Amino acid sequence: MVMDKLSNSLQDALKKLVGAGRIDERTVNDVVKDIQRALLQSDVNVKMVMQLSKSIKERALDEDVPQGMNPREHVIRIVYEELMKIVGEGTDIPLKPQKIMMIGLQGSGKTTTTAKLARYFQRKGLKPAVVCADTFRPGAYQQLKTLCESLNVAFYGEEGNPDAVGIVERGLAEIDKYDVKIIDTAGRHSLESDLIDEMERIHAISSPDYKLLVLDAGIGQQASEQAKAFNDSVGISGVVISKLDGTAKGGGAMSAVAATDSSIAFIGVGETPQDLEKFEADRFISRLLG
Ligand code: GDP
Repeated sequence: MVMDKLSNSLQDALKKLVGAGRIDERTVNDVVKDIQRALLQSDVNVKMVMQLSKSIKERALDEDVPQGMNPREHVIRIVYEELMKIVGEGTDIPLKPQKIMMIGLQGSGKTTTTAKLARYFQRKGLKPAVVCADTFRPGAYQQLKTLCESLNVAFYGEEGNPDAVGIVERGLAEIDKYDVKIIDTAGRHSLESDLIDEMERIHAISSPDYKLLVLDAGIGQQASEQAKAFNDSVGISGVVISKLDGTAKGGGAMSAVAATDSSIAFIGVGETPQDLEKFEADRFISRLLG
């Protein structure tokens, strides 16, 4: 079970509940304090941590321990349920013909994730094709082209042409016969107005079924603001958290997901095209708390 993988201090705090006949306020406060510490270390938004603590405390003290459960199991379930409300079940991207637009800041892992997704659909028996509309980052074209070639995935790009919108228009016409069309758009170092403008124009011309925002697991507290700006501009239908193979736990990205009312579709767990996993809330939550 998910909570068996918790940090030692949290395990210790929860142990106090094992023998307890009823749940007393001091023990709950100890448990909540440990949860707060873990979540803040994982970069979860401070306000969110406070709200969560409040609901956990209230529920742990107010609700009767259901029959057949001990107080420890009861509190664990409350913690899990409250976290699930924030993290969400995850977005299920259907296995059918569709257009997907990738968005995110430069360096977030957009291009790598584009190749990962193409491989994912390819392995499910669909025919993917990729359009490189990242005309901003030097090397993006070559990087994506090489990745696609290694995967035997169809690729469209126009090296040296800065007209991203035109590339998308021509690219989509060129790859019309493919099932899953993935558009890799340009990022910037920060959300500048020209990026927003370009995204909106690409969005208008391509009418994507899904807009996937790629967020670096290490993004921290500024994630929510960025995600909101992307959401206001083209709308986010799902999030991919990249680089979860590192030390970062993705709490900032999770806060962004909550702030934009979206949910997580995939996680990136390495640099190669096979390092993509479908999001699993259980594992993500235990990592946040661990
Ligand atoms: P873009 O600017 O958003 O297109 O970013 P890239 O796809 O080029 O990724 C930036 C860097 O992050 C590259 O060095 C990638 O290899 C690396 N990267 C992307 N996704 C992951 C991941 O899930 N795990 C790790 N460890 N590195 C990743």
